[in-house]
Amino acid sequence: MSRYFSEKYKNLTPYTPGEQPGTRDFVKLNTNESPFPPSPLAVKLAEEAARNLNLYSDPELKKIRAELSGRLGVGMENVICGNGSDEILDLAFAAFCDKNRPAVFPDITYGFYPVFAEVNQVPYKEVPLFEDLTVDVDGLINTKGNVFIANPNAPTGIFLGLDRIEEILRAKKDSVVIVDEAYVDFGGESAVPLIEKYPNLLVTGTFSKSRSLAGGRLGFGIGNKELINDLNTLRYSRNPYNVNSMTEMAGVGALRDDEYMKKNAETVKATRAYLTEELRKLGFYLPDSSANFVFAEKKGFGGAYLYEELKKRKILVRHFSKPRIDSFLRITVGTMEQTDILLKALKNIISRPGD
Ligand code: PMP
Repeated sequence: MSRYFSEKYKNLTPYTPGEQPGTRDFVKLNTNESPFPPSPLAVKLAEEAARNLNLYSDPELKKIRAELSGRLGVGMENVICGNGSDEILDLAFAAFCDKNRPAVFPDITYGFYPVFAEVNQVPYKEVPLFEDLTVDVDGLINTKGNVFIANPNAPTGIFLGLDRIEEILRAKKDSVVIVDEAYVDFGGESAVPLIEKYPNLLVTGTFSKSRSLAGGRLGFGIGNKELINDLNTLRYSRNPYNVNSMTEMAGVGALRDDEYMKKNAETVKATRAYLTEELRKLGFYLPDSSANFVFAEKKGFGGAYLYEELKKRKILVRHFSKPRIDSFLRITVGTMEQTDILLKALKNIISRPGD
């Protein structure tokens, strides 16, 4: 830290992204990316857009917002786009939280939430998940503040029914409820249709997972017009050109090729079912996942040990050294071939502990 670094960030611990080794010799199952390339239409439209890179991107992002509004059945005024859904989440912490309106989220969830709270200087409370890793809805309701809830949750993969989300929305009319649907296409149900009924609902989504555009950095927020206006006030005050024109058009192409996304999501679901079954046969405990990853624990083997052993074998998964979950691995659902390599390695590791 330099002596010039602002006092206000002295306790800030930044988010640690999953490793990006930059070589192709790893079986990479650590950052929940899609194992499939982007839709050819996404690539084609991005390439065409590259020819106009001398011009600034459209600050209103009309093309991608129009496409999203058509696809999701909401008005253009209900849509904001960002540099990944991370940016929309960051804007939501900045726009809606302050010392009187803290952020509230489960203790085990997306690791960026506490960082967004810290960097935006807002207090936050963590509500412990139940022992079975499900969300304590009453705990969220009974804790003052705006609720951030990943659904399906990460890293557990567990989906919370929309009836429970509605309970929170009804009980917390004076707070914003942010439903982070990064993984919804892999088995969840979207809360987007509820935005008409609940002016306090903001749903965020991403092109990084089911639409294979993680490197493009494109996310969105869907909500009541006033909420979206608030987010735009901050977006225009920070970076009106937050989504570049190639990415905007890649997103348009990805949305137009909806069949491609659906086919890939079905493949991921089938591979997830296989992976889940095989891990259970190996004696792993794992909850049923509705996402493109599983969260698995093998009693008697530390998560850190399994992570290291897999890494030695050129397989990357994610391990969080956090109490309650440090015996677990979060494993992205890759291709069938990658899954078999992983399973073979795990079999080998657990048959020779300490090797
Ligand atoms: N929410 C959750 C729960 C996530 O796991 C991620 C991916 N790390 C994001 C949001 C952000 O995704 P992106 O910024 O790529 O849209």
